[in-house]
Amino acid sequence: MWVVPKMTTVKGENLGFGQFPGGSPNTDGVVMGAQYFGSSDKGTGFYLSAPYDKGRTTTHEVGHYLNLRHIWGDGPCGFDDLVADTPASNGPSGGCSTQKTSCNSKDMVENYMDYSDDACMSLFTRGQKERMRAVLENGGPRSGLAYTAPKEITYCSSKGNISTSEWIDHVALGGMSNKTGSDGGYKNFSKKTATLAQKSSNVMTISAGFKKTVYKEYWNVWIDFNQNGTFDNSEKVISGPSTSNKDLWATVKVPSNAKLGKTRMRVSMKYNESQNACEIFSFGEVEDYTVNIISNTARNKYYQNRSKEPTNITLYPNPATDYIQVDLTSISDKATYQITTMQGLCLKTHELSSSKIDISNLRSGTYIITINNGKQLYQKKFVKE
Ligand SMILES: [Zn+2]
Repeated sequence: MWVVPKMTTVKGENLGFGQFPGGSPNTDGVVMGAQYFGSSDKGTGFYLSAPYDKGRTTTHEVGHYLNLRHIWGDGPCGFDDLVADTPASNGPSGGCSTQKTSCNSKDMVENYMDYSDDACMSLFTRGQKERMRAVLENGGPRSGLAYTAPKEITYCSSKGNISTSEWIDHVALGGMSNKTGSDGGYKNFSKKTATLAQKSSNVMTISAGFKKTVYKEYWNVWIDFNQNGTFDNSEKVISGPSTSNKDLWATVKVPSNAKLGKTRMRVSMKYNESQNACEIFSFGEVEDYTVNIISNTARNKYYQNRSKEPTNITLYPNPATDYIQVDLTSISDKATYQITTMQGLCLKTHELSSSKIDISNLRSGTYIITINNGKQLYQKKFVKE
């Protein structure tokens, strides 16, 4: 944008002008006469020339810059401004002639793309707004001003060179569960998404698989909470050794400032010693996942919706150790179940394929099981011993 002293031309004084999209880059922009730039409503002491002293010339020129034509279509009746919801007009209006009609309709003299006095102008139409937006949106000639392409993030590589004796065989978090064999030292499971709320604590399951001997393995899990493409030390959510081929439990805490949306989680298991997020090591395995961070409000809403007046259900045994049986007589076969902690954290969601539900992986404590058959929720508290 250029602001210049008085622009006198052979036709008279020019208040300002704007270049349509697609012109020479050297002259691309809006040029304003100083006496018409700014608004007398915003203070005093400027040299502003009434009745063009409310900044509306700039609004008008920026309209041209964003591809709007004059509302009268720069010609008599029959010339169009290419916007459907502006009335036809046979020429520019001046002053504030609100009762002016032409081309069999009332003129929209209040439109910024007319020549009325500044104080008279007050609107762009919806159609004009859409025409301007099209210029700014992805693929539009001025998209660089407003549209930001989503950043393509690539993460550093990490893997175990040999994963035939030990590998990651189970990862479960935030409604997502993945049981696998050896995946050749690294596997991208980013199509699998765990959903976690900001400022929440979540139980995560990890487990090592072994060909024969159970070795000591070192676990590190990172979630790129700030979505900057690196696994920072502060983003390490689990860290420690194990010597077990059973499911292990750990708590994953999501900070309140974790960026909303999808991000990357890296689960790394290395033989005998600790590893960093970008390490290629000899023995073990690395798996990448997607974590979708949602707001706490969204999470609470989710649980409120799901727990609307649930019906009681019969289950046995209770307390139980390895599995519970639910009475399915009133439940159709297309049901799912969800096991949550008393605090509402979801540990397990699965299709209800039989009346027997495996709870052997749960730690001792009290849980809630919710069964949803699409029409009704059934709910019951149970105790895992
Ligand atoms: Zn104009």
